[in-house]
Amino acid sequence: MLKPEILNKLRAVVGNSHVLSEPEDMIVYSNDATILSAKPEAVVQPANRDEVAEVVRLAARYNIPVTCRGAATCLSGGTIPLKGGIVLELTRLNQILNIDKVNKIAVVQPGVITFDLITAAGNVGLLYPPDPSSMKESTLGGNVAECAGGPKGVKYGITRDFVLGMEAVLSDGSIIQTGNAVDGDMCGPDWTMLLTGSEGTMAVITSITLRLVPLPAVKKTMMAIYDRLEDAAKTVSVTMAAGIIPTTLELMDNLSIVSVEKYLKIGLPVKAGGLLLIEVDGVLSTVEENARRVSEICKQCGATEVKIAQTPQEAEDLWRARRSINPAFGQVAPCKFAEDATVPRSLVPVLVEKIMSIQEKYDVPIFNMGHAGDGNMHPTIMFDKRNKEQMARAEQALDEVHIVTLELGGTLSGEHGIGCAKAPYLRAETGATGYKIGREIKQAVDPLGILNPGKMFFYEGKLH
Ligand SMILES: Cc1cc2nc3c(=O)[nH]c(=O)nc-3n(C[C@H](O)[C@H](O)[C@H](O)COP(=O)(O)OP(=O)(O)OC[C@H]3O[C@@H](n4cnc5c(N)ncnc54)[C@H](O)[C@@H]3O)c2cc1C
Repeated sequence: MLKPEILNKLRAVVGNSHVLSEPEDMIVYSNDATILSAKPEAVVQPANRDEVAEVVRLAARYNIPVTCRGAATCLSGGTIPLKGGIVLELTRLNQILNIDKVNKIAVVQPGVITFDLITAAGNVGLLYPPDPSSMKESTLGGNVAECAGGPKGVKYGITRDFVLGMEAVLSDGSIIQTGNAVDGDMCGPDWTMLLTGSEGTMAVITSITLRLVPLPAVKKTMMAIYDRLEDAAKTVSVTMAAGIIPTTLELMDNLSIVSVEKYLKIGLPVKAGGLLLIEVDGVLSTVEENARRVSEICKQCGATEVKIAQTPQEAEDLWRARRSINPAFGQVAPCKFAEDATVPRSLVPVLVEKIMSIQEKYDVPIFNMGHAGDGNMHPTIMFDKRNKEQMARAEQALDEVHIVTLELGGTLSGEHGIGCAKAPYLRAETGATGYKIGREIKQAVDPLGILNPGKMFFYEGKLH
């Protein structure tokens, strides 16, 4: 609990009703989408950049940890206030400040919901491509802080490919403006990219300038059904090798299909070993040609059927199925390790088979699915933490997923970030020198160490 004197100072900045300190509020703000939790001592909800700066200045003066929070859909423990202190909730900074149609740029506050920007851009014929499955809840500040990805990453890239600049509050309360609305700012090191993916450990993002692209004229959504998951995975590498870049290539295994079907009842093929959800977009002639070629490749690789959505509603049903995998997890077990093991696209079939073996070896259910088209798989290990023996097996399976991913030349995180959940493995990926530099950079930017302490390079547990 913060001293009453400090709480009063915080209230003077953001208003009485925007400082929460009741015990029940602290419980609400102790979680994100992982199984981890730690209680803050206060929750502060600023309304604008100047209030953010003033709160951070106070925190620096009293050496209080500050953990930023958007929608708290984080899957790596980034939002958990490990050291107590202040949770800085940024959802009141929720304005789309500008959409510039000519220069194809949006300027947004960090609390804007991702889907709201996608909708607003779509209304003027533009597209903001990063589309995390959580896009109807997640905030753009959280997306930039985690460098979120999504199904469209195959063709368009991930959040970092769209961040042109930002305004952020540093740990002493000073304000930095990085980048420029001009595409291709080359003045010195890329500070924008330093902050993108920094997971709230270096600065509080208060405004973001994002690149938009023209809305594609048409798109086609297809579902390819396979008896064997391995054949679906092989289709991914064969498609990419054929020089076709679909907009999305999402892989679902039988566990995902059956769980989603139980949940949504939309007629998914529950006997299938795997399926691919594929979308192609662009101008009509290219879309038709790519859809035909992808469909042929699917069949050559063993698809028993390729269905093309005939109406926008059919396409939306297929996407709803993909987005519903997360809500459907609970049917299998109450707890999960939701990973985003990412490997070179050509190695997706290898990773998929390794995950199948890990599932068998440790006898824990694993959803073997993900954004396969950009190599970003989401092996999700299910368990019940009340069953200690099962949880231990799940942890061993998790270790092995990370090790296998790194052995394949992949990365621990294609989009969910490191936080504290994956921090024990970070040094294994960066190497000792990269790890040391990571610590030094954080220390240079946040010398007091008040921003999201205990995360990423400053994890205090055992390192692999
Ligand atoms: C069902 C489900 C599906 C998901 N699907 C995807 C997916 O497809 N792709 C994907 O990439 N992720 C996915 N995620 C993970 C998550 O949604 C993303 O990481 C998202 O970017 C988090 O946004 P948020 O607003 O919830 O951020 P939060 O969870 O609130 O915060 C995430 C991190 O960002 C920091 N942060 C938040 N706001 C700021 C700010 N203004 N300044 C500085 N730091 C800040 C926090 O401190 C924390 O470290 C999914 C999660 C769920 C629960």
